[in-house]
Amino acid sequence: CGVYGVIGVADAANFVALGLHALQHRGQEAGGIVSHDPVTGFQSVRRFGYVRDNFTKASLMETLPGQLAIGHVRYSTAGSKGQTAIRDVQPFFGEFSMGGAALAHNGNITNALALRRELIEHGSIFQSSSDSECIIHLMARSFQKTIPERMKDALRRVEGAFSVVAMTRTKLIGVRDPLGVRPLVLGRVGEGWVLSSETCALDIIGAEFVRDVDPGEMVVISADGGVESFRPFRPASPRFCIFEHVYFSRPDSILGGRSVYETRRQIGVELAREAPVEADLVCPVPDSGTPAAIGFSHESGIPYGMGIIRNQYMGRTFIEPTEQIRNMGVRLKLNVNRALIAGKRVILVDDSVVRGTTSRKIKEMILDAGAREVHFRIASPPTAWPCFYGVDTPEREKLLASRMNEDEMRAHLGVDSLKFISLEGLYRAVGASEGRNAACPQYCDACFSGEYPVAPSDMIDKGFRT
Ligand code: 5GP
Ligand code: SF4
Ligand code: MG
Repeated sequence: CGVYGVIGVADAANFVALGLHALQHRGQEAGGIVSHDPVTGFQSVRRFGYVRDNFTKASLMETLPGQLAIGHVRYSTAGSKGQTAIRDVQPFFGEFSMGGAALAHNGNITNALALRRELIEHGSIFQSSSDSECIIHLMARSFQKTIPERMKDALRRVEGAFSVVAMTRTKLIGVRDPLGVRPLVLGRVGEGWVLSSETCALDIIGAEFVRDVDPGEMVVISADGGVESFRPFRPASPRFCIFEHVYFSRPDSILGGRSVYETRRQIGVELAREAPVEADLVCPVPDSGTPAAIGFSHESGIPYGMGIIRNQYMGRTFIEPTEQIRNMGVRLKLNVNRALIAGKRVILVDDSVVRGTTSRKIKEMILDAGAREVHFRIASPPTAWPCFYGVDTPEREKLLASRMNEDEMRAHLGVDSLKFISLEGLYRAVGASEGRNAACPQYCDACFSGEYPVAPSDMIDKGFRT
């Protein structure tokens, strides 16, 4: 998901709409904005579909006035299976004795089921099936006198990954979980302030990047310009999601001081060193494989070409919730550039193999177009474990790499060769020149290593074994 918030500028909701549009890659199912204005109070709009279709200037101006607004773009992750209802679309809202508050959450709370059970037993009335709603109910049960204090209480009981953007009538609040699994940055726009999942959504409104919100930090921002910083949690070693660098974030964003594009290009360089192969053409699987393919081509000296063309009007395939739509999705989204491919030995560079359906379809399309050989190079290690921290991976049995070793996967996909970047190579590419610190890894890499930095307790209750 993507979260965004603005305080201290006229028509804040317009800025939020633009920001959410730049974060659309983080969630395409639905979006919502809440604003506050002293005259109209809190107003909210929540809709299915793209930001650009729902939040146009004319309609916004009337319904979402004020100098303070937050927003959310959603995609459903494990645990929220089935059809999303509009009541699951964020931001969520709560009314407390000291006033209202709205909240938008990116990440996944790993003890949400246990918390929900407890809260319902104590009288909470849940409106949605979302894990994020727990935070509102925990805040309602806190005895603290201010909303930021209540948020601290609530978030100390929550486990897992959370980057939260919240607002009261007068304040904009941002929090990252102690490990800082999901990103959150602070920016300045005119006299106002911005919180955003990624820096690409600062650029779109001409905001200036100020700094990352730190892992375990809460910032409370007032309209008169003050940013207060708190550390509500026990300090921990950060474990930022390494897959944000590989795939999830936009390549024009800066994460933790590093260009996502440069990291991806460097992954391609590492891949070319680790797994060279003789071929005529390096082709990205667009768009997520593109920077790595550029790096691979540069390092290997094999020409780069756009052998697969992407229809720009389709979303990310994996975000479509059902298997059937996903299967169709590949052909709706990608087509082979025959003129370039025919008769060639082709290296295809993609970001990840999850179920393997995409790779299989692409291989067929490439061979149909007359390629002589197909070699897959993958910009992440084999995805053998599900993510419980906010990236949608299927259950373990559906992950190709949980059932097969590299050679079995190669045979299953029917390609001439298949190589994944090593975990060490990936760490080098994200700038850890000393490699992965096995005793205390610098990133979360659980989907590759099976080492979960936060025990996924709800899933363990359901029988999941690491
Ligand atoms: P597959 O067909 O192997 O399940 O899907 C792999 C493709 O889905 C990759 O090319 C990648 O672009 C995209 N993808 C990336 N990350 C994820 C993820 O976390 N979950 C899923 N299901 N697909 C992803
Ligand atoms: Fe990111 Fe993978 Fe960790 Fe999930 S399990 S937070 S996708 S590194
Ligand atoms: Mg892809």
